[in-house]
Amino acid sequence: MNKNKREKEFYSVDVGDSTFTVLKRYQNLRPIGSGAQGIVCSAYDNNLERNVAIKKLSRPFQNQTHAKRAYRELVLMKCVNHKNIIGLLNVFTPQKTLEEFQDVYLVMELMDANLCQVIQMELDHERLSYLLYQMLCGIKHLHAAGIIHRDLKPSNIVVKSDCTLKILDFGLARTAATGLLMTPYVVTRYYRAPEVILGMGYQANVDIWSVGCILAEMVRHKILFPGRDYIDQWNKVIEQLGTPTQEFLLKLNQSVRTYVENRPRYTGYSFEKLFPDVLFPADSEHSKLKASQARDLLSKMLVIDASKRISVDEALQHPYINVWYDPAEVEAPSPLITDKQLDEREHTVEEWKELIYKEVLDWEERMKNGVIRGAAVINGSPQPSSSSSINDVSSMSTEPTVASDTDSSLEASAGPLSCCR
Ligand code: AMP
Repeated sequence: MNKNKREKEFYSVDVGDSTFTVLKRYQNLRPIGSGAQGIVCSAYDNNLERNVAIKKLSRPFQNQTHAKRAYRELVLMKCVNHKNIIGLLNVFTPQKTLEEFQDVYLVMELMDANLCQVIQMELDHERLSYLLYQMLCGIKHLHAAGIIHRDLKPSNIVVKSDCTLKILDFGLARTAATGLLMTPYVVTRYYRAPEVILGMGYQANVDIWSVGCILAEMVRHKILFPGRDYIDQWNKVIEQLGTPTQEFLLKLNQSVRTYVENRPRYTGYSFEKLFPDVLFPADSEHSKLKASQARDLLSKMLVIDASKRISVDEALQHPYINVWYDPAEVEAPSPLITDKQLDEREHTVEEWKELIYKEVLDWEERMKNGVIRGAAVINGSPQPSSSSSINDVSSMSTEPTVASDTDSSLEASAGPLSCCR
């Protein structure tokens, strides 16, 4: 495309400390959150005639960590199409050549709030179990594509007022270093499983631990295992759940085992003590039954030894969850990930720059050829069956719970988290 024509397609607008240079079809930009990669805005898309979210990735190739994450996210978002994973509507860069290339803009479906805000609300069992069901469907879909998340947290899960839920990101690359003996770096780690904290091998149900922590927080309205660092966090885990068995300790590498064995011994508490009846809605016999089911699910998810923890499939069959079971959502065909070396890639900054730039051009090319039509990737939402309980998520406090690189606030207008199907 001719340079001048391309320039005319864009305009710039200041958003907080950042400048968004976006296609003219996107109007009315407003900041709605920020994460490790930058600012997210809501906008109106004149072409699709709907609101969208636009995330700016500023110089995503600037270092290995940013580049790997941005490239991985871009490639995976292009492949995955499931109603519980955020859908990509458009990708563009305002720069015209590889040499000038700086920023990538990802246009996504717009949701109303992230889960941090929902956690503060008093949800009934219907909403609670439906949110969990959708998290599990999204996770199962990622697992089917060989993507084990390992870093699910409330700030990376977004919801709409009709109680629909989507996972925003794809977690840690297989090669990402984590573990007790690593230098602390400010990220939210409260939801990471013991096998991640302790640098052990992991399997798919590593993500179940995070769902358990999120469910616990929705019930308690407090972070279950807050910790200044992994060491502090591990203390919180064993204080509540008890010191793990010898069988588990034998699975640890020598240096970590020595550390874990030298911690004070804790017997832990029963799940009735950790999550007493008063925390759950128990206004009827039905609610009481649901509360005991939710507690049972928590006790099966929050198991330190992954070999004894419930699997995603088992969780989807659990009585608290399986009321929502729909094979079309649970067993959706798995996405085909084209780049098999996605997690192993190591490149120089210049190579990353070119790889990411090519991905953006590839998207533009496919759009031009009609292979992707923005609106075509939008997934349907379930039909609401009730409109009870008006809990306005926009009125929730947007204060982040901790300083972290994933803290976010959401100022967008958000409707009521009012109904499930
Ligand atoms: P991220 O940079 O992806 O970690 O997103 C940071 C924050 O921006 C999230 O915690 C959400 O509050 C908000 N956000 C990101 N994407 C969306 C979206 N598609 N719809 C609504 N809010 C979003």
